[in-house]
Amino acid sequence: MPNKILNAKLLWMQFEDVLAPRLGLTVWDRAVYSYLLRHSLVVGKLRLHFAVLSVARDLGLSNGPVRQAVRRLDEMGALRLLERSKTGHLVEMRLPEQIRALRPDKNGASQAAEGPPPSALEATDFLKTWALRKTIHDRERSACFYCLRRTPAHVQCLDHVVPRARFGRNSYRNLVSCCIECNTRKGDRAIPDFLRTLYRQGRLTPAELDGRLRALKDLAAGKLRPLLPAGRNHRTS
Ligand SMILES: [Zn+2]
Repeated sequence: MPNKILNAKLLWMQFEDVLAPRLGLTVWDRAVYSYLLRHSLVVGKLRLHFAVLSVARDLGLSNGPVRQAVRRLDEMGALRLLERSKTGHLVEMRLPEQIRALRPDKNGASQAAEGPPPSALEATDFLKTWALRKTIHDRERSACFYCLRRTPAHVQCLDHVVPRARFGRNSYRNLVSCCIECNTRKGDRAIPDFLRTLYRQGRLTPAELDGRLRALKDLAAGKLRPLLPAGRNHRTS
């Protein structure tokens, strides 16, 4: 909407009251989204080219969390990553009212508050709505899938066991809830290797390591099913 004059009051309220809580944004996601919006739609530009390094420097963060936040915002539809190259990222920003997961459907219910019928479990994209993402966090009972640490809502995120870049799906068999630290430190490592690193660092006991490796197999085998929100108009917010 480059030529549209933004209603700052409305935008701010949509951001704080709808977008951030419905999508379950972390403080990093919030900082990055609001920074990118400030330099794009707020000044009449739909697209923005930026270097993670500069954004991180301006926000006083390190590169990893900024890169992760951009990836999460892309997955949630809050921006669209058009290009990633040596010179930086090219993104197209979305206003809260343009984000698909937050738009009301024809019955007036927000898509973020709905769940699909259970028969569709295998085909469900669990990053699609806030309510679906929450089912993965709930399945892990607010503990990091990798290090087992308690993860309050503001420091938990969803992680692809097989990275999306390597064709990992947004299935409940490929998504886990974890702490920001594990999400950042894991990098491109295979999960069993990362779990063994946690064990070597004394963050998992031998029994916990065995349990995590078993859980990883159960996850891939479809044994760790999240509980889908009941009913079409069920609201979890
Ligand atoms: Zn962790």
